This record gives sequence, structure tokens and C-alpha cells, in this order.
Amino acid sequence: MMTRSAVEIRGDVAAGRTSPSAVCAATLERLDRQAGRFNAFITVAHDRARAKARELDRDPALAGRPLAGVPVAIKDNICTRGVRTTAASRVLEHHVPLYDATVVERLEAAGAMIVGKTNCDEFAMGSSSEHSAFGPVRNPWDTGRTAGGSSGGSAVAVATRLVPIALGSETGGSVRQPAALCGVVGLKPTYGRVSRYGLIAFVSSIDQVGVFGATVADVAACLQVIAGRDPREATSADVPVDDYIAAIEGGAQGLRVGVPNAWVGAGLEPGVRQAFTDSLDVLRGAGADLVDVELPHSEYATATYAVVVMAEASSNLSRFDGVRYGARAPHADTVDALYSRTRALFGDEVKRRIMLGTYVLSAGYYDAYYLKAQKVRALIRQDFERAFERVDVIATPTSPTTAFRLGERLEDPVQMYLADAFTASANLGGIPAISVPCGFAAGLPVGLQFMARAWAEPVLFRTAAAYERLTAWTTHAPSV
Ligand code: GLN
Repeated sequence: MMTRSAVEIRGDVAAGRTSPSAVCAATLERLDRQAGRFNAFITVAHDRARAKARELDRDPALAGRPLAGVPVAIKDNICTRGVRTTAASRVLEHHVPLYDATVVERLEAAGAMIVGKTNCDEFAMGSSSEHSAFGPVRNPWDTGRTAGGSSGGSAVAVATRLVPIALGSETGGSVRQPAALCGVVGLKPTYGRVSRYGLIAFVSSIDQVGVFGATVADVAACLQVIAGRDPREATSADVPVDDYIAAIEGGAQGLRVGVPNAWVGAGLEPGVRQAFTDSLDVLRGAGADLVDVELPHSEYATATYAVVVMAEASSNLSRFDGVRYGARAPHADTVDALYSRTRALFGDEVKRRIMLGTYVLSAGYYDAYYLKAQKVRALIRQDFERAFERVDVIATPTSPTTAFRLGERLEDPVQMYLADAFTASANLGGIPAISVPCGFAAGLPVGLQFMARAWAEPVLFRTAAAYERLTAWTTHAPSV
């Protein structure tokens, strides 16, 4: 039984062919049955989903809303009122928010039903969804492999067609990389496009909410609902929201597609290289112009990203001190003991980042690391500005490899960070990027990434949808 696309479900609900309660019941039934298999969910929101379904059933006027009766899953670092929100951490294991994130509020106002909270790396720190206090997420194409991360549970929820749409968060590739490794579409919007009110902060100069869907049209429909200024969130920009749904009709004819050959040349798995080359041929065949572009500083993206991320993470996570939020260590006689015993609950990766971040921000090292990283970040941004004078989008593989084995990179943080080699520069540049399925290598999905200039989500949707129609890779799903 395959859940249909959000666009189809919404059409059926509007035409009275099905009811939100029927969709909700079928989704929860499958979720309960499959929940353990891939460990994609931390919490199932039975009551909240059913209550929303009943509300939609009762009021026929709601059937016309853009996501009426569409079940969605939400990454567990996005706050849901009355539904536990853990960020996959022991520190927030019993944390029940008093308010909804703006994105959650907007989804429900559009008629969507929140069915559960998805598993991820602790505080979104990771590339494999193994750094979770609730155990690793498994890849539905091969359960011995990771789903990617950090939003692995959301990627799996969509890949298994349990829900057509799921939200994740992006700091360095946490939506696009798991989308690629699980064979679904994943979007990271422009910095400031989507409100982060209610997203648990990790790297405030980068974090953005992102969208997973099985099709490009569903991702566009979801962004249409969640994008736009939020008076409660100062970094959400007052930039008009385009018609993303109309944008998917554009086609590839005449698109200028930049390919940073020098950058993507190195370190690609052969199967990924083949799928990438084939997809460029498809675009060329459909009338796109391929242009060689240079992004000379992108090779420093991973290192630059690491410094910025650790610094801001160490500062953001200082709020988890046992006093204000989440867990509080018992029997502490002094404030220092309270802090250190409470923080002992953090997992290894979170501790590593807090310590490294504190180091790069400390007196004497600030200039050598943090300031330097900010300068390289400016150069990465300038590279993009220059490239986008000549092209509409830039294409790269999303990830240098397909899904790696569980455990394979846990002891080697640098290998883990290199999973973001092609994704992190868009985050540092603040620009939007999308990953679309582009084939398989040894039975595992491969993702194709397109990046565009800030606020140019429409051209991303146009390119991704054109490619989707030309290849039909998004119709492939794992058998579960
Ligand atoms: N893998 C990256 C990291 O570990 C990205 C995480 C993210 O985008 N949230 O920081």
C-alpha cells in the first residue's frame, strides 16, 4: 500500500473521494506496524493527528485548504505543543514544548495532520542519524546502512511512503544528504525564507527548516505553505513568496546549468560519478546549456563549516544547564556540579562540538580559527555570486558516496564530516539548494544537487521538476 502524493491526497479530500480521518487511520496503522523496523520515529502523535483529522472531517470548508488531509512527519528538533520534542537527546528526553513552531502552525492551518516526530542526530549534529539517544535510523534500501543525517528519520518516513511530506532542518546538508541516500527529494531554502521560531537552535547564522517529499511538486506545495515572514522570528525575511507550484512547469529548455568540474572531480565514488554524468547528459539532451563554472573556495567549505558550526553550537547549547530547559541532574550541591552532571547527559558528538567550539572562540584562538573561517565564508559566498552571473543553477552530486554502513564512520569524525563536502557550501553561502533522485549505484540511491542564487527557489523547482519528468527516478521506492 503506497501513500499517494500530497497533491493527490489533497485532490481526493477536496473531491470527497476520501476523508482526512480515513487517511489518518491508514497512516497511523502503518506507522504502528512499521515503527520499529527503521527506527524512523521517536514519538507517534496519535491523538494530535486524530484530533486534526476530526476537525477537518467536520468542516467541509477546510477541504479546500492546500494540504487538506495530508499526513506529515516533523523532525524532533522542531517544537510541537503538547507533543514531546527531544532533539534526539537525553537532555530533552521528557521535554514537552508549550508552543508550536511556526512551521507546524502553518502546516496545520493548511490542513495537514502531524502524525509523528522523527528520529535524527542529537541536536542535528551528524550525517548518519546514528548520534541519536534513541538508536540509529536504518536505511530502507539496506537496513545495514545509514539513512544519512541528521534528518534521517524524516527521509525514511518519505522514502517508505508513510507520509508524502516531512520537515527536517539544515545546517550543513541534513535534508539534502539523507534525501540523496534514501532516494527522495530534499530542499534547503534560502537562509531567512522559512521561520525558525520553534526550531531548536544549533548554528543560528545557518540553520533553516527544510522539506522532504517523494516528488518535486509536493516539496513545492509544502514550501508554499511554510515560507514567508514571521513577526516572531527576526531572521525570517520580508521577501515576497513566489508561486512555487507554477514554477515546476518551466522545463529545461534554455536553462544555464553550471558544473564546477574542478571541485566535483575528486573523491567521488565511481557509481555516483556515473549517475551524475548521466544526469548532465539528460539535461543537455533536453535543451539545457552546460557551462563550466569555478568555485575555487568550495574545497575549504568543510573545514570552514566545522569551525563556524562548533563555535555557534557551543554558544547555543550553553542554555542546557539544568536550570531552564530539560533534564536536571539530581543531588548536585553546587552550581558547577549541577552544570557538569546535567551536561554529562549529552552524547559524545555533542560534547566534542561544545569543547571544540569553546576552544576556537577562546582568547588567543579566536582570530586564528573563528575570524579566519568567517573570512573564507565570505569568499565562498563571493564565488557563488560570480558564478550566478553566468548560470541559473549549479549542479553537483549531493553526496560523494551512497549510503554507508552503520558504524563505519562513527570512530572517524572527519570522514563523517566529509559527507557534507558538496552540501555545506550552500549553507555557508545562505543560498537555496535541492537534491533529487538521479539513479542507483549497486542498488543504492544517488542524489543530484542543484543550487541557485538567494531567493531563487522557483528556478530550483523548475530545474528539479524538469529533470524529474525526464527520468522518473522519483517513482522508485524501496519495497518494505
Ligand atoms: N552533517 C552536518 C553536521 O554534522 C550537517 C548537520 C545539519 O545539517 N544539521 O553538522
